[in-house]
Amino acid sequence: MEYKHTTGVISVVRLEVAGMGTRRIRIANLPPETSEQAIRMALAPYGEIMALHDEVWSKMYRYPIANGIRVATMKLDKHFPSHMVIAGDRVIVSYEGQPVSCYACGGTGHMRQTCPHRRIEEQASPPAPDNSWAKVAATGKPTQKTRAEGTGETNSSGAEGAQTQFQSGNV
Ligand SMILES: [Zn+2]
Repeated sequence: MEYKHTTGVISVVRLEVAGMGTRRIRIANLPPETSEQAIRMALAPYGEIMALHDEVWSKMYRYPIANGIRVATMKLDKHFPSHMVIAGDRVIVSYEGQPVSCYACGGTGHMRQTCPHRRIEEQASPPAPDNSWAKVAATGKPTQKTRAEGTGETNSSGAEGAQTQFQSGNV
């Protein structure tokens, strides 16, 4: 067999050999309103972004519905930490071949429980009170809880309404 489009073959070979190759980077926990520009800026230090799109539920629905996960096809220069901040939101980054990294410092080779940076921080200074998300969630002042429940009810009834519309339109 003789390939006439030799340029195509050469480019494929180059993708396999050079650097860390092309990977599909999945970014979870980003609000839908986060701009593509903000995401691209956050991803850029880790390699060249070939494509950026929303992951969709493809098999369960007749029409593609975004599941909230952004997918970036990238030529990686270096590995992503499993957690990073994009436009103020803490996101979960995952892809095939990603090394396990520490939740506290983003470094590889250890987990948060044994993080040397975390120990140094705790010894040097007491933890900032407004920085402890788990503590706030556990303490949960009554006024905040009532407000949160009210918001939840509004959201769920809105979702039910949308679902009813969708079902009736489908029948
Ligand atoms: Zn660490």
